[in-house]
Amino acid sequence: MTQTTGKDIATPTRTKEVLEKYGFSFKKSLGQNFLIDTNILHNIVAEADLTKEKGAIEIGPGIGALTEQLGRAAKKVMAIEIDQRLLPILADTLSPYENIEIVHGDVLELDLKALLAEKMAGVDKISVVANLPYYVTTPILMKLLEERLPLENIVVMIQKEVADRIAAKPGTKDYGSLSVAAQFYAETEVAMIVPASVFIPRPNVDSAVIRLKVRDRPPVEVDDRDVFFRVVRGSFAQRRKTLLNNLMNSLFRKEQKEAVIQMLADIQIDPTRRGETLTIAEFARLANESLRRGLIGQ
Ligand code: SAM
Repeated sequence: MTQTTGKDIATPTRTKEVLEKYGFSFKKSLGQNFLIDTNILHNIVAEADLTKEKGAIEIGPGIGALTEQLGRAAKKVMAIEIDQRLLPILADTLSPYENIEIVHGDVLELDLKALLAEKMAGVDKISVVANLPYYVTTPILMKLLEERLPLENIVVMIQKEVADRIAAKPGTKDYGSLSVAAQFYAETEVAMIVPASVFIPRPNVDSAVIRLKVRDRPPVEVDDRDVFFRVVRGSFAQRRKTLLNNLMNSLFRKEQKEAVIQMLADIQIDPTRRGETLTIAEFARLANESLRRGLIGQ
């Protein structure tokens, strides 16, 4: 259970005190926008369904505002921070919490599988909970999903525009290869929209918290994951073009056109549709059939 105490890091007063004590200056290039609203933090933590048997991974703890709430809600917390200047600050602000460990490094470079095995032994399930640095939102999310880490939930604050794309349904303007990739690995939901006033400094984009409930297995049978994602990217290559045009321009050779048209007819996908109207099941059918007919190589 999380609770507010007078000592929460995430109040404007306490945050300013900490920043002044250490003469800390924000680095825009590291996406440093710290949360100063405990209610928002409680809502984020609640989305992750943590218990005292579960573990939490945080990416970018900053001065520890969210980290301490995770320490109260979970059995163990591992927080990965790239900015060395924050390490002494975190050692100070998080000193009451013995179940929190800070790892210094770039999340994109670290071997997360090995770290999880080492640091999260003895926990029931693990979730990632973070206010992500916006300059690397997509690479971080794709790394978490593609490495098939043993995660239950990913609950992260990100740009609202990216959250909308991740959760978008077929046929909408936001639906694209990021939607398909995220929804292939997880059930996605925009959990809340967050005003810029809860950050210091305020980001100049709108923010949202997205919840990804990681799937045990993909929702569709895919013979070759790499081919599937090539077909997805190819189908979205130019949004105004028909599916057939996109596929012919990006994936298949000119002389394969008749065979591609025949295949689309056999799998009941109209070649004049736009790529962004295809469901994940249809992309899977298209990828599997292209491979089985030898139209595309592994
Ligand atoms: N969790 C804090 C909060 O909510 O107040 C800070 C969030 S701030 C949006 C993002 C944090 O991620 C910063 O502390 C920044 O230094 C850190 N960061 C940026 N790039 C990173 C990377 N590649 N790996 C790990 N941490 C990173």
